[in-house]
Amino acid sequence: MKVDVNFQVCESNGLCAGAAPQVFDLDDDDTLHLLRSTVTPDIEEQVRDAVRQCPRRAIVLAE
Ligand code: SF4
Repeated sequence: MKVDVNFQVCESNGLCAGAAPQVFDLDDDDTLHLLRSTVTPDIEEQVRDAVRQCPRRAIVLAE
């Protein structure tokens, strides 16, 4: 599974970084970075939680 972020709608509130810190990182300038694009089974639930928490629906999952 792949994950991506639509940075055009992301508001950099960092909720996804709290849910899945191995995948999302908010830097000191409040810029969100995608640390990896491949979702392995061990982090899938965290990433799905990040998707649920994102108020902008900016996180996209693809098989
Ligand atoms: S939760 Fe959504 S809006 Fe917030 S930083 Fe993550 S991708 Fe952006």
